Amino acid sequence: MSEIIENKPPLLAGVVGFPISHSRSPLLHGYWLKRYGINGYYIPISLSTADFVGGIRSLPRLGFRGVNITIPHKVSMLGLADSVTDRAALIGAVNTITFKEDGSIRGDNTDGYGFIQNMRQNAPLWEPRIGPALVLGAGGAARAIISALLNEGVGELRLANRTRQRAQLLADQFGAKVQVVDWNRASDAVDGAMTIVNTTSLGMQGQPDLLINLEAAPKTATVSDLVYTPLNTPFLEQAAALGLTVVDGLGMLLHQGVPGFELWFDHRPEVDEGLRMAVLDR
Ligand code: NAP
Repeated sequence: MSEIIENKPPLLAGVVGFPISHSRSPLLHGYWLKRYGINGYYIPISLSTADFVGGIRSLPRLGFRGVNITIPHKVSMLGLADSVTDRAALIGAVNTITFKEDGSIRGDNTDGYGFIQNMRQNAPLWEPRIGPALVLGAGGAARAIISALLNEGVGELRLANRTRQRAQLLADQFGAKVQVVDWNRASDAVDGAMTIVNTTSLGMQGQPDLLINLEAAPKTATVSDLVYTPLNTPFLEQAAALGLTVVDGLGMLLHQGVPGFELWFDHRPEVDEGLRMAVLDR
């Protein structure tokens, strides 16, 4: 019996993007493969836009069970997949694909799932239904966060973005619970918001800080930042100094990898401190 197991070919998955060297996903999945002693590989694959369709189509023939999809292919993957989950359709992008036995491609988006799991793990008392949410930013990541928060029962979602028109487009798509707030009035919109999330790239290394004043936030509010370089952004530092509950963005990255790993490697992995250290230590 053990001989048969040893003779099985390794399970293959990976991440496709362009460029791909910046991706931390190989570290993440590599840690889990080692930790659970799985005979498998997770490989970074660089595919330019011109090579994308042909490259993806060749992966199942090479033995891949599926891959993560990252910048710049997340939106085009939506059109290439044979079927997609409801959450991927709602977000308008795919970050995880699985090759089925009949050769078809199933697309999913696990970013919103990763966000919610991160909040639950690091702010166990967080209750999204308890009050309004304020989302800062209206780019690709914001779509996943808005979709996930509404799915969790948030009744009022305030949305502020530098380019108001982009926020309005999202409000039109997601419905009346989403109300656009002027970017210059975002500090006022903090008043009463129980969940406050930065989905802009502000605060990232090399970017300007996010200048939102959190003083009007309820003392029981939970504040999260999707930026994880640095881990403690000035925005989160301000929230912590005010005594608010803070959740950094690294956990979202880790949790979004769970569904794919389970599908490709037949084992549901855990997100713990060891994994955080392994992914940070780069
Ligand atoms: P994106 O689609 O390019 O959107 C960028 C957002 O940032 C837009 O709302 C943009 O506003 C805003 N922004 C950029 N520069 C600004 C400035 N100077 N002033 C005000 N607003 C500004 O990017 P994305 O994919 O949504 O990613 C956003 C951030 O989330 C990135 O830092 C990314 O690393 C992070 N992220 C983290 C995770 C995770 O797992 N933790 C997952 C996904 C993304 P405009 O519309 O006005 O341009």
